[in-house]
Amino acid sequence: MAKRKLTRRQNWRIQKIQEERAARASKKDASIDQQLDSSDLGPEQHGLIISHFGRTVDVEASDGDIQGEIFRCHMRTNLGQLVTGDRVIWRMGKESGVVVAKQERTTELLRPNPYGEMKPVAANIDFIVITIAVEPTPFANLIDRYLVASELSGIEPVILLNKTDLLTEKNRKAVDEILQRYRDLDYQVLEASSSSEQGLSQLKEKLKNRISVFVGQSGVGKSSLINMLLPGVDLKVGELSAQTKKGKHTTTTARLFHFPDGGDLIDSPGIREFGLWHIEPDQVIEGFKELRSVSGMCQFRDCKHEKEPGCALKNAVEDGTISTQRWNSYKHIVCSIEEQQN
Ligand code: GDP
Ligand code: ZN
Repeated sequence: MAKRKLTRRQNWRIQKIQEERAARASKKDASIDQQLDSSDLGPEQHGLIISHFGRTVDVEASDGDIQGEIFRCHMRTNLGQLVTGDRVIWRMGKESGVVVAKQERTTELLRPNPYGEMKPVAANIDFIVITIAVEPTPFANLIDRYLVASELSGIEPVILLNKTDLLTEKNRKAVDEILQRYRDLDYQVLEASSSSEQGLSQLKEKLKNRISVFVGQSGVGKSSLINMLLPGVDLKVGELSAQTKKGKHTTTTARLFHFPDGGDLIDSPGIREFGLWHIEPDQVIEGFKELRSVSGMCQFRDCKHEKEPGCALKNAVEDGTISTQRWNSYKHIVCSIEEQQN
């Protein structure tokens, strides 16, 4: 659809509507703060943000008789942005609760908003489960991209090979070779099949008592795995994937689910698309842990690791301490980011 130029009058109307909205919002904020000062609110208690809807959040009570129950809450102003996974202090009110404090986050998953600014979409995540499958054939470079994004966000990646029921004499060698490369780097690698249920108990064990997100290319079986791990919430997961397929609502709010065997999942179409955003070429090396540890040892401080003499990285590739595949992958990612920027 061609973009239509707005008339001055239309622009004026839009601006006026925006101003009215802002005025209404600040009035509402004022009334929340006023309510806070009154004695109508219950005592302070701990809670967990399950979901976020514009100006309200769903808070799950963490203590007392009401533990596990979900309450729609407003937020005290000046709290900053609250996201799914945030641990908060809240107080029960007559109609809705009020979040009064946000606890410090251990990690943040960031994503660009429609204006290109990096914003948190989920908090306190322990594992990024990078899902790959026997089919579609995994590309090592794609795995490395997810690993770099995980390393740079400071969240531990777990590589999960799904669809092991499709392993054959023929494809096993290539898959094993890829996985071994990551095991050698001390990355956790798990194998499972959502169809045959092989490996699911090890996966459940790994995710116990932790908050995880699943990322990976479409078709690797993320929805199928999540359905197996979260029996009974099929519908919600199904909805999420249906929305992604239509290419709409990719900003749908992230939601936290409890695994029946322990541990939590935060999921949304936007989180599943987690990727390398707004990364500078010289940051990429920080995302390759075996390169990061050697890069300080080059003869020249400002070594570009290209043609310089005494380059510790090139030497390490030559003597086999750094795998050629990972080195090529590193170069490839740096190039693709540079291309994007030009
Ligand atoms: P998503 O796009 O990552 O969410 O992947 P889906 O869960 O939609 O799965 C993509 C396709 O792979 C579907 O046709 C699934 O039936 C199939 N699939 C998922 N898990 C397995 C598995 O463990 N084995 C096999 N053979 N197929 C699977
Ligand atoms: Zn160098």
